[in-house]
Amino acid sequence: MKALLHICCGPCAVYPARQLKDEGYEVEGFFYNPNIHPFSEYQKRYEAVVVAGERLGLNIIHHRYDFQEFLKRVACIENRVEQHRFCWRIRLEETAKVASEQGIDCFTTTLLSSPYQDIVEIAALGSAIAEKYRISFLNRNFRKGFAESHKVSKEWELYHQNYCGCLFSEKESIDERNAKAKNKTA
Ligand code: SF4
Repeated sequence: MKALLHICCGPCAVYPARQLKDEGYEVEGFFYNPNIHPFSEYQKRYEAVVVAGERLGLNIIHHRYDFQEFLKRVACIENRVEQHRFCWRIRLEETAKVASEQGIDCFTTTLLSSPYQDIVEIAALGSAIAEKYRISFLNRNFRKGFAESHKVSKEWELYHQNYCGCLFSEKESIDERNAKAKNKTA
């Protein structure tokens, strides 16, 4: 069975790729993340995914960088939770679409490994999208391998980001760091 693994970043790819291979899947990586800004950050994350792919023996498909479309649509959504949902949906939907076009039996995402994302909602979304494209969504608890993934990726010296990906999350991360620094000096 072939599986298309949507990959959000290099560090998060380690455990899911190994897990799926252990289960007997022929895995292909899929990098589609138009949410990542700015472009310099996008490049750093993509380069880390390429290195992780080499280490894991994974072919990586680089899909287009739809940043204009992402920005246009996300800017119309004021609620942060709804922004996350939109961001998960477009990436999962594109992964399912490409898997279906290429005759790949199933798909999943490294987003299921993140302690910062709502993995229950992502899994439900993945299953609904899979039904639409008549393929399977591999609902796995990759989160249990998050620490292992990050340990290995440090050894491999992969780039580790310090915000989720979009401009909003970058600002939130900077605000948080500034607030912490201010508290320290107060
Ligand atoms: S915080 Fe992360 S999940 Fe939410 S919209 Fe931004 S990039 Fe997407």
